Amino acid sequence: MPNSQPTRILLIDDDRLQHHLMQGFVGRFRGGPWTLDTASDYTTGLKKLLSGKYQVCVLDYRLGDRDGLELLREARAADSTTPVVFLTAEASEEIDEAAMDAGAMDYLVKSELTPRIIEHSIRYARKLGNTLEQLKRLATRDGLTGQLNRREFERILHEEWQRSVRFNHSFALVLADIDHFKRINDTHGHQVGDEVLKHVASLLGGQLRTVDRLARYGGEEFAIVMVETDRKQAVEAMERLFALLAETPCQISPTLALSVTLSAGVAEMPHDAASPSELVAAADEALYAAKKAGRNRVFTAKRARKE
Ligand code: GH3
Ligand code: MG
Ligand code: MG
Repeated sequence: MPNSQPTRILLIDDDRLQHHLMQGFVGRFRGGPWTLDTASDYTTGLKKLLSGKYQVCVLDYRLGDRDGLELLREARAADSTTPVVFLTAEASEEIDEAAMDAGAMDYLVKSELTPRIIEHSIRYARKLGNTLEQLKRLATRDGLTGQLNRREFERILHEEWQRSVRFNHSFALVLADIDHFKRINDTHGHQVGDEVLKHVASLLGGQLRTVDRLARYGGEEFAIVMVETDRKQAVEAMERLFALLAETPCQISPTLALSVTLSAGVAEMPHDAASPSELVAAADEALYAAKKAGRNRVFTAKRARKE
């Protein structure tokens, strides 16, 4: 019954005849509703795919003097999660393999297309795409706060390190730990502790720029990569966060609101470290110094004094 939002299909193919054929196929799909949008060159196709407006993309291997594999890899590198069904003129195991490696969900040969085959493939690609998304989420996110988990953070930290070396940028790493969190658990119970963790995570997440990356690094410790940021800017950002945290207690129930503070350590790449692990160690040392100096403050690496 066409009571739901239409499933938006994007066809990227340099052969306009194929657009008409596909429109005919889509018109004969059983489920629905469906809409088909088309792009006939690499650049337009990539741009439309990256818009995230489509539930599925059907992508031709030949795209003028470029190819669909390249487009698919570029889209994946830009974090596109739209499931893609790959089309080729003739069957080739090599292209089939390469398409799957590049992240395609299925592979169809143009001469063998029927409305049933393509509809089935599109449904399957969507289903598989959703399952993969869920798996990815489970593998990369912390279950309690929904923020990145430590393993994913380590991966991002290495990636950011390499990017910053290549483009000669700096970035800041912040480790922030809730002060006297054990007391909250001891006084109010573990579940209340969990609520406070979620509260702090969402407050931190809500204040960061979209380019920054926040992770739950350990029990009640968070890590933040602030891209193209020096230590001074990172300290200022953390102080703004501390101020916000101070005026936003965690409302557990109508009668119970808990205020928490954080201590944080900031280290700057490449100023404070020659490798990602050294950077973590430097930020950790600064965090330890902040705790020792009385908590609820942010310290920078090495010199371990407030800026
Ligand atoms: P400090 O100011 O020195 O950081 O003291 P603290 O009490 O925050 O630090 P400590 O390391 O002594 O205790 C951290 C506590 O965090 C102990 C642990 O049980 C608790 N914790 C770790 N993960 C979770 C979690 O997922 N939920 C809850 N509720 N508590 C957690
Ligand atoms: Mg703590
Ligand atoms: Mg801790």
